[in-house]
Amino acid sequence: MDYRRLGKSGLQVSTLSFGTWLTFGKQIDDKTADTLLTTAYDNEINFFDNAEAYAKGQSEIVMGKILKTKTWARSSYIVSSKVFFGYEDGLPNQSGLSRKHIIEGCNAALKRLQLDYVDLFFCHRPDKNTPIEETVLAMNTLLQQGKILYWGTSEWANDEIMQAFTVARKYHLIGPSMEQPQYNMYERTKMEKDYLLLFRDHGMGTTIWSPLASGLLSGKYNHAKPKDTRLEMAGLEWLKERTLGDTSRIEKTIQLSKLSADLGTTLNKLAIAWTVKNPNVSTCILGASKVEQLTDNLKSLEVLPLLTNELIEKIETILDNKPVLALY
Ligand code: NDP
Repeated sequence: MDYRRLGKSGLQVSTLSFGTWLTFGKQIDDKTADTLLTTAYDNEINFFDNAEAYAKGQSEIVMGKILKTKTWARSSYIVSSKVFFGYEDGLPNQSGLSRKHIIEGCNAALKRLQLDYVDLFFCHRPDKNTPIEETVLAMNTLLQQGKILYWGTSEWANDEIMQAFTVARKYHLIGPSMEQPQYNMYERTKMEKDYLLLFRDHGMGTTIWSPLASGLLSGKYNHAKPKDTRLEMAGLEWLKERTLGDTSRIEKTIQLSKLSADLGTTLNKLAIAWTVKNPNVSTCILGASKVEQLTDNLKSLEVLPLLTNELIEKIETILDNKPVLALY
């Protein structure tokens, strides 16, 4: 495993990490969850991603129980949680980025995870109804209390993150260290365009999500409609539509699968390697519902040397979606 700094921070994160969205506490049983987390750790992944909203808190409960049974040094792994969506009854103050929900959400996450602190704590989405000063200050309170070690954002717009940095500087507080955006061959704008000044001027790190676009970039939907996947789960019709609704993506995925086969590899590995080829990616979070998926995805770093300029050009020709930087 390789390790990268989380932006300009001192923290070293494994280039591939492991997340639990839709799987822990929901799609898979706890035994499989244990096998997956153990496989990740045994393969030198040091970052496990979680959130209050994942399976309404169950994902953290499952991860916490597993961690409790291990003899792994706490210093050998990084755990995250995220606050915003809430996990309770949708009452006022049970979601958002007010000081109340940030502090209560963190305390509740620590309880579910059975940890004294989380290493990374994310604002899962921007909250248009809370002043940014309140959010930055609440995160700094948690930092001072030692309940979180780094704070960051997820899916915030460039100007919202810039505002957080401005407020932090004005009040001599600590600004966000990392963002968690979606990044894969089909979702590129934030990572390759919007955030460029945040990387250059603020040393922002990234923990990118859905490198396989929810499994689409494994190629398994090319010619088939597999039934045992997240896209068939009740309540996830929106995700099925988002993933498979655009048929041009299936056509491109078929071409990318052929390209991978010509190289003697598979698209899942090529697609994951493609994300970490971007130096602004600190870590790429893998998801898996089966241990075979994780063990195969873990081999992605071996494919990295195949990504020559010539191959990248071939991929660009198929994708035809490279974000354009305006030159005035
Ligand atoms: P991916 O896009 O890589 O999707 C992972 C899913 O694809 C697996 O659960 C599995 O689903 C399928 N899959 C993975 N590998 C293979 C393979 N080799 N062959 C066939 N199918 C495969 O990542 P996720 O969408 O899971 O995102 C990764 C992590 O990022 C999450 O766990 C979470 O921690 C984080 N995240 C953060 C978000 C945010 O808003 N901050 C939003 C979403 C995710 P199946 O078997 O069901 O098809």
